[in-house]
Amino acid sequence: MKVYILGSGIGGMSCAAILANNGFEVTILEQNSYFGGKAHRISEQGFEFDTGPCLLTYPEWFDELFNTCGKNLKDYLNYKRLDPITRYFLENKEVDVASDINQTAINFENKLGLKKTFFLNYIKRWVSIYNISEKIFLLNELKFNFFFLKNAVEWIFKAGVVNIFTSMSYYNKVLRNKSVEKIMNRFATYTGSSPYQTPAFMNQLAVVEMVNGGYYPTGGIHSISKALYKLCNDVGVKFQFNHKIDNIEYENEIFKIYSNNEVFNSKYLVSNIDYYKTQLILNRKFNKRSLKLSTSAIVFYWGVKVKSPNLELHNIIFSEDYKNEFSQIFDYNIIPTDPTIYINITSKFDKNHAPINCENWFVMINTPANLNVVSNENIKKTKDFIISKINDKVGINLNNSILYEKILTPKSLENKTGSYNGSLYGDNQNSLLSIIKRKKNRDYKLKKLYYVGGTVHPGGGMPLALRSGLSVAKNIINET
Ligand SMILES: Cc1cc2nc3c(=O)[nH]c(=O)nc-3n(C[C@H](O)[C@H](O)[C@H](O)COP(=O)(O)OP(=O)(O)OC[C@H]3O[C@@H](n4cnc5c(N)ncnc54)[C@H](O)[C@@H]3O)c2cc1C
Repeated sequence: MKVYILGSGIGGMSCAAILANNGFEVTILEQNSYFGGKAHRISEQGFEFDTGPCLLTYPEWFDELFNTCGKNLKDYLNYKRLDPITRYFLENKEVDVASDINQTAINFENKLGLKKTFFLNYIKRWVSIYNISEKIFLLNELKFNFFFLKNAVEWIFKAGVVNIFTSMSYYNKVLRNKSVEKIMNRFATYTGSSPYQTPAFMNQLAVVEMVNGGYYPTGGIHSISKALYKLCNDVGVKFQFNHKIDNIEYENEIFKIYSNNEVFNSKYLVSNIDYYKTQLILNRKFNKRSLKLSTSAIVFYWGVKVKSPNLELHNIIFSEDYKNEFSQIFDYNIIPTDPTIYINITSKFDKNHAPINCENWFVMINTPANLNVVSNENIKKTKDFIISKINDKVGINLNNSILYEKILTPKSLENKTGSYNGSLYGDNQNSLLSIIKRKKNRDYKLKKLYYVGGTVHPGGGMPLALRSGLSVAKNIINET
């Protein structure tokens, strides 16, 4: 049976590989001349940059995907566990989140003054909640059956009703340590949300990285896209690049997909395009003003002639007033005036990612999902602010050291990947309702239309996009 998949992001390629391996005739229609979507690559002037995702979590899910296709991930991709995972710069202190949670607790005690046992008990609680969440929310399509209800009751009992109705930042006050609170609150951004609004039970997000670990694939994140592309080719998926989908119609139980004056017919259709963009392509109307989207980002890809012995692969320089930063993003819809700065430098691991005596700096801040938020003036202001803050906190002067620069904005992200208003993960998760109402993998009306990727269930980020691909493929296989 023929299946068309729209978009070659992580979700689309994962779904395609499983279907093709089960005998389906799968074609991916992709608007760009390349695969990978947000997980693409810039190679210019001797510098290599991953364009979007930088941190790999749940690598075992990638192993699972390749095993399901009868392959060994190691023949396609190597990865290693990071230690430390992230270096945090706070006020006048710096601290590492280590590979081992016990070491992280020791670091927090020594550098930030939080008792080790207190932090370990805090984390233990979220581990037990996370373990149930993984079973009921992440691994499969959401189905409201007996299994779900049984686990949901256990989940509510463990999570505590109060943590459903209070915010992450409110709960984290139990830590009584402003620095650790900031570090834990930051995990809300992994769903593009605000720690001052997202429910307290979302603290379990910390478990994914702090306990299960952060990983680096050899060659950088683009190696993941390359591995998936190779897997797809090995199991017979066809790719048609430079095919932007303009319109989809559904007639007599057949999807008609329009692109470049061609029409493709398919009984089953999987969209890896952003959920809201897909609705527009289906000519469906929705209330644009009522959308509550996740954050977008500005990324400066800087090829710099500096060496940074005091930086790691992943680094965070916190804003002074974290609450105000999120208020500016979600309430005022503007670029934060004092943003938290994320710096990723893969040339620390892959020497060929930068010329000699240089480094490849991926410098990112969170912004609202708003196409008009960026102007030449505020980009310059933001850049000057970041350079001055890096000088202040890390002691590295980037003035006159930036040899190469490219900038990603919400608008260019939308143009390149189809992300609606440049939002990274579709709807935000700033309330219980938005979490419950997260877009499902199956269309509410057309039962043979499926969605995969970071804007639908189970959520944003590469591993969850992969998970959506696996679960949609399983459904289509079971139905045919
Ligand atoms: C700056 C940034 C940082 C991030 N950091 C991380 C991180 O550290 N860790 C992590 O796990 N995740 C991170 N993410 C999120 C992660 O990149 C995505 O969730 C993940 O790549 C899943 O992508 P996807 O499957 O939704 O597809 P996408 O990557 O969104 O791809 C969609 C594909 O559809 C194609 N398409 C769109 N419209 C059309 C059309 N009309 N016709 C045909 N094709 C179309 C696009 O060209 C694209 O190839 C980050 C994202 C960004 C942007």
